[in-house]
Amino acid sequence: MNLSDPVEKLPYVGGVYAKRLHRLGIEKVGDLLYHFPYRYNDFSKKQKIQSLTANTESSIEGEIVETNIIKTKTGKTLIKSVIADGSGAIEAVWFNQPYLLRTLKKGLKVGLAGKVEPFSGRISLVSPEFEILVGERGPTHTAGLVPIYPETSNLSSKWIRSRIKSVLRKITPVKIEEFLPENLLKRYRFPRIEEALSNIHFPKDLKDVKKARDRFAFEELFLLNLRSLKSKKIWKQNKIPVKLSYAKHKEEVDSFIKELPFELTGDQKTALGEVLSDLEKDTPMNRLLEGDSGAGKTVVAATAAYLAYLSGAKILFMAPTGVLADQHLETLQSLLEPKGLKIQIHTGTKKTGTGDNFDLLVGTHALFHKKEGFEGVGFVIIDEQHKFGVEQRAKLLKKVKGGQVPHLLTLTSTPIPRTLALTVYGDLDLSVLEELPPGRKRVKTFVISERKRQSCYEWVKERINNKGDQVFVVCPLIEESDKETMQQVKAAKAEYERLKSVFKGIKVGLLHGKLKPKEKEAVMKGFRKGKIKILVSTPVVEVGIDIPNAAVMVVEAAERFGLASLHQLRGRVGRSDKESYCFLFSTGSDTQTLERLKALEKESSGFKLAELDMKFRGPGEMYGTRQHGLTGLKVADLTDSKMLKIAQDAAGEVAPKLGKHPLLSERVGKLSSRLVELN
Ligand code: ADP
Ligand code: MG
Repeated sequence: MNLSDPVEKLPYVGGVYAKRLHRLGIEKVGDLLYHFPYRYNDFSKKQKIQSLTANTESSIEGEIVETNIIKTKTGKTLIKSVIADGSGAIEAVWFNQPYLLRTLKKGLKVGLAGKVEPFSGRISLVSPEFEILVGERGPTHTAGLVPIYPETSNLSSKWIRSRIKSVLRKITPVKIEEFLPENLLKRYRFPRIEEALSNIHFPKDLKDVKKARDRFAFEELFLLNLRSLKSKKIWKQNKIPVKLSYAKHKEEVDSFIKELPFELTGDQKTALGEVLSDLEKDTPMNRLLEGDSGAGKTVVAATAAYLAYLSGAKILFMAPTGVLADQHLETLQSLLEPKGLKIQIHTGTKKTGTGDNFDLLVGTHALFHKKEGFEGVGFVIIDEQHKFGVEQRAKLLKKVKGGQVPHLLTLTSTPIPRTLALTVYGDLDLSVLEELPPGRKRVKTFVISERKRQSCYEWVKERINNKGDQVFVVCPLIEESDKETMQQVKAAKAEYERLKSVFKGIKVGLLHGKLKPKEKEAVMKGFRKGKIKILVSTPVVEVGIDIPNAAVMVVEAAERFGLASLHQLRGRVGRSDKESYCFLFSTGSDTQTLERLKALEKESSGFKLAELDMKFRGPGEMYGTRQHGLTGLKVADLTDSKMLKIAQDAAGEVAPKLGKHPLLSERVGKLSSRLVELN
């Protein structure tokens, strides 16, 4: 039998059990072996019956002396067995499993494990794990470290354990071939696959488990990296529709940079350099520009867009929301219209770009439905790329006819530490803006308890009246969702009404996704122009908004957000040389919540906070694993930067000669591709 055979082929696995296994994502024999325990019951302390004491976990072996069934007054059944081992005897009881009467026959040898508890006046084993021991074969379920698996209804750990044991103990011989290169196994001292599988399921001790888990963690990350490198290679085989050249337009681009109202930061210069050198090539760029909010990604993208325009290419600039598209339109118009670019917008409600009457088209998801005007598009920018799915990005690129692929620059303000980003986004080239533009003051951040709410409002009132500050108020996150729910809108409306009466005489605005686009625009304009002083909004609308005069950010029920999201929200203020503040209202009072939020008081680097957030909440919570194709990771710990690095290096080393490792190559091929696939 092979690892790639369907589980149906295994003994005791008929159609019914196969269906249940499928529910756990187990289709092949290999999947079964890769269904790892998440913990172990420690039954390694085998005892004589005589030495058992109350309230301890114990494991015994003995012979069944008798088994009886008892009906209780309430109509339940009780199975009682007496087990003896020469040193003494003990009763074991099970509830409502009358069929055990036939299983637990007098004279059989059994293993039992579980808690010893007082029961009707003496110590007994209450609902212990048990197994009938036949011949010389030792216990599987009642001694040693016993693996506990993710289960599903009618599929117990015990059943899964038996099947896995049978496969691993050659009761059902399965061919397990090593697919990791020998030199890597040696270099990092990883156990070979058979040993690792055997030890992760049936370890002698926890050291075995650790070694096995290390190997599987490496395996996952190594494969992920190899797949990324493969995707990258395939991407590079694409041809661009329009040739861009910085070399030809150096003078104009350089003077554009000189004319900017500010000097680019060192990181911006480096990133722009990387982008421009990609754009020089005949293969399409696929670069991610990562930078904390406010780091100034837009201007880097705009400069590259200018070069594209000079080279005769059209440009698409995608934003995740209409509000953000409006803002980009304004920014890009002020930067690029003086240079002669015709800039249009295409959102759900505003379509000034009919046909192909544009040089640069700013848009939202609505662009997916635009039918024409994509000829000559040579450069695509996607802002806040994590808000778009892989398929959506592909759909946009596919609009460019002739199977050609334009240069792609994606932007994200999720600050993922570089080592992790290289794994998560391994198929992209990476540029990072870590440095913020100069003059930015640190946003003073405070976690505020309910008691201080009123005095906080007084203080805010004062800032508005005396310093002309503008204020964001972000409503609680009700559901973790990219889409705004009705409930969310309701909460925002209620907060808006409440604040209108708290801040009498001050203009309060309300922004949420269910507003009509015209209304939304009016609100944003009012805020941008400083007429609206306090803007109440849902959490969703916020991403990317740039209002330099806004200096106070208030977040309600802050504990519901991750640190990275809070940091993003906070990034909406402190965008000028104004003293800026962030107030986090928290209803949660447990110390872990407070400790987590307090991290924001001390830490102002998005990258540091991202690391902390991963420690507090785990990477899945944080980045939405689905988005990053990391759902397959079962063992790897994404905060383990040492392992991330080892896997990256190893992949870099093996990738060029992957052909020499057919089994490995096959594994890589099986990982579903995150690549933006074209046709
Ligand atoms: P983000 O990276 O979050 O998209 P933006 O591109 O919106 O940030 O930039 C935030 C603000 O910083 C904008 O108002 C922009 O004009 C300004 N900015 C960008 N780069 C610099 C710089 N080098 N010096 C000063 N201000 C800058
Ligand atoms: Mg931005």
